[in-house]
Amino acid sequence: MKKNFLLTPGPTPLPPQVLEAMSRPIIHHRTPAFQAILKEATEGLKYVFQTTSDVFMISSSGTGAMEAAVINLLCAGDTALVVQGGKFGERWTEICQAYGITAEVLDVEWGKGVDPLEISKRLKANPKIKAVFTTLCETSTGVANDLEAIGKVVKETPAVLVVDAISGLGAIDIKTDAWFCDVVVSGSQKGLMLPPGLGFISVSAKAWKLVEASKSPRYYLDLRKAKKALDKTDTPFTSSITLIIALNEALKMIKEDGLENIFARHRKMAEATRAAMKGLGLELFAPSAASDAVTAVKLPAGIDGEKLVKTMRDTYGVTIAGGQAELKGKVIRIAHMGYIGEFDIILGISCLEKVLQQSGYKFNLGAGVKAAEEIFLK
Ligand SMILES: *Cc1c(COP(=O)(O)O)cnc(C)c1O
Repeated sequence: MKKNFLLTPGPTPLPPQVLEAMSRPIIHHRTPAFQAILKEATEGLKYVFQTTSDVFMISSSGTGAMEAAVINLLCAGDTALVVQGGKFGERWTEICQAYGITAEVLDVEWGKGVDPLEISKRLKANPKIKAVFTTLCETSTGVANDLEAIGKVVKETPAVLVVDAISGLGAIDIKTDAWFCDVVVSGSQKGLMLPPGLGFISVSAKAWKLVEASKSPRYYLDLRKAKKALDKTDTPFTSSITLIIALNEALKMIKEDGLENIFARHRKMAEATRAAMKGLGLELFAPSAASDAVTAVKLPAGIDGEKLVKTMRDTYGVTIAGGQAELKGKVIRIAHMGYIGEFDIILGISCLEKVLQQSGYKFNLGAGVKAAEEIFLK
């Protein structure tokens, strides 16, 4: 018998309430019954985004919402500043380039957070920059950026701040309004405890002016259409009915827990994971800006990360993530995000210890689990 455990930074495990919601018979979307759900889910999203602005739902994975942000705010010939400190920062650049938007890249060493001062300098040097694209949690490196500080810098300029919070939202704090994050993009399969398939995007009043002015061709991802529909508690095309019903259940769980408790729980799981890695003699990939949603860990020379992840998954049923792009084989990433709890983390660390031991890496067996337990006991 092999039992499966998911500890990846998307998709994340699904709570029973969400699974149950998805097994209900389908209903029609243009009905009072569905509209009531859509309304409740939209209000719940505003709570999680910590915003009073509209939050739109898009039937796509998170990247669809990123693309919606780019084409609704900017058009060919415009200039954007992109913070690029990992694979997902690069995605902003690629989307901009696909639409003929000039992406000025602010390269950040992988594993480090962006210095808000650098953003300020770049904005001063080029007043043509209309938008700053950045990432809340750079899932590829395990970095969390300081959005509060970045927001303070960007708000003083005509540029809008656009944040990829696909991983991080619902796990670590992002105060959309209070931190002046004009556009926040997210997805369903990470902190929100749902399957992939829904994208979300919030738009401030400052950003909405760009939405109306953008000359980009748009159809399915046109937020002007989405706004018209949302004002009537509707979506412009067939709603992702089942996913939105499930979303409503997940949001109820989040509201019951309360955001502050959820952030504290994630902080503790992150601390436990980091302590465990230290206990095993492993180094964090992003020690100075570690995210509380996912931990990236450097592997010692001689340990092949891809093989390690494969053994954990195929032999023991515990799925963590390996490294992406230039980090392939060199790091592992353990998620502590969404419907993941204390004992999932202990289990993941225990399995990691087993496979490390079998690979010949020298450490005190149990040292990782012990370090994590000590944090959870605090
Ligand atoms: C997972 C993730 C994405 C990609 O989202 P998809 O749902 O795969 O399109 C983008 N950005 C970040 C930071 C992510 O973690």
